Amino acid sequence: HDWSARRVRDTFLDYFKERGHTFVPSSSVVPLSDPTLLFTNAGMNQYKAIFLGTVDPASDFASLKRAVNSQKCIRAGGKHNDLDDVGKDSYHHTFFEMLGNWSFGDYFKKEAIEFSWELLTKVYGIDPKRLYVTYFEGSDGLEPDLEAKELWKSVGVPEDHILPGNMKDNFWEMGDQGPCGPCSELHYDLREADKDGNYRNASSLVNADDPEVIEIWNNVFIQYNREPDRSLRPLPNKHVDTGMGFERLVSVLQHKKSNYDTDVFTPLFKKIQEITGAREYRGKFGHEDPDGIDTAYRVVADHVRTLSFAIADGGVPNNVGRGYVVRRVLRRGARYARKYFETEIGDFFSKIVPSLVEQMGDMFPEIRKKETDIKEILDEEEKSFAKSLDRGEQMFEKYAQKAKVKGSNDLPGDDVWRLYDTYGFPVDLTKLMAEERGLNINDKEVEEAQEKAREASKGDKKAGAVLVKLDVHDLGALENMNNVPKTDDSTKY
Ligand code: ATP
Ligand code: MG
Ligand code: MG
Ligand code: MG
Repeated sequence: HDWSARRVRDTFLDYFKERGHTFVPSSSVVPLSDPTLLFTNAGMNQYKAIFLGTVDPASDFASLKRAVNSQKCIRAGGKHNDLDDVGKDSYHHTFFEMLGNWSFGDYFKKEAIEFSWELLTKVYGIDPKRLYVTYFEGSDGLEPDLEAKELWKSVGVPEDHILPGNMKDNFWEMGDQGPCGPCSELHYDLREADKDGNYRNASSLVNADDPEVIEIWNNVFIQYNREPDRSLRPLPNKHVDTGMGFERLVSVLQHKKSNYDTDVFTPLFKKIQEITGAREYRGKFGHEDPDGIDTAYRVVADHVRTLSFAIADGGVPNNVGRGYVVRRVLRRGARYARKYFETEIGDFFSKIVPSLVEQMGDMFPEIRKKETDIKEILDEEEKSFAKSLDRGEQMFEKYAQKAKVKGSNDLPGDDVWRLYDTYGFPVDLTKLMAEERGLNINDKEVEEAQEKAREASKGDKKAGAVLVKLDVHDLGALENMNNVPKTDDSTKY
């Protein structure tokens, strides 16, 4: 079998359609109707009202019992934020597709587990010896999910491939509030078998951030709502909500060690190479990529996907909330492109867009429809950053030198703040640059510098507007999120 990305996706959709699931198109990646969420971070987001039992009886969702789709997701802010991994690892993107099947008060654990096992091992033909499953071990007064454990046994998973997991890995939550429940996941061992076809047991590598044993599919058994006061309210019905990383599945089926070695990304790399004249992508990571060029390829390809899909759905770059996440992603990408590909900034990303549209426009027609808008907005935003990028880099060099002369490994918070305030350098970008130079940044110092700046501009209404403790990654990101109920964690936005 030749598992092209397109065939992998179609096979998933067909499998569940044949089993009574209705295809529901991906919802917008910019969840305009849900103020608790920065971006759509999982396939279940659009079904929140069904889970909560508050769905409008007139809507198509009112009678929906089983659904399937491939959802556009962005995880670049909020509870699920993978921005810092991008470029560095082989399996986290800021934009990705999540394949999912759902049961709304219809089937529950048994069928969900049987479907996922049959689809992976029989339809896709994945070697069961490489698969590991997890179940919720119980905590915070919640029972362990022994039912899931038994069900995995009954489909034939050997006991040493069934592992208990904690709250963090095996109790899935949409955000600081919202539907949630225990989950049971499938993990895949990418390592080679020995000459007799035997694999080493991978139990200790599951959920251990090991790039060779990766999570591919999560089956969530939605039974609760996390309330604004952090308590768990049981829901009127029990539901199944699953999410499988499309790019990870493609990489498994194409026998690759990295999502970036599949036909999801190679057309983008080709285009980037054509535009920049850079050396070809070699698929190396960390110190096996000493010139940083492979890393830059991954960052740029990831970011052009995030930017294009966000903009197509109305998430334009600006100074607040979602818009600031988009801006940060663009600035980060632009700086990578200029430093590692030595390319002019101003119309770089827009040149990659046609290749993305060609590849994804059939599944997601919105990017084809909005292609011109996407390119214009990218160009405008890139051009405005190009002006301060040079001077900002020079200032960064100066600050880095100053720290070195002092014999310090820390970039002072005041300097980080000035780069943000005067040159438009998002703090996460400055952090990356500091990391390249072996310099640390102290978040608390940056917050203090921000505080000082606010003090200094007292009377200026705008500057005083958001005096909350916020994650320095997200400086500027909170201002239009004022309708988000303030739980402890909401300040992370
Ligand atoms: P991980 O532990 O690898 O970060 P996760 O537990 O955060 O994944 P879930 O919230 O369970 O992920 O999402 C369901 C599935 O979506 C995962 O099993 C994975 O296959 C995929 N996925 C999650 N985050 C990403 C990402 N940043 N890029 C690509 N695929 C992802
Ligand atoms: Mg994660
Ligand atoms: Mg996980
Ligand atoms: Mg998971």
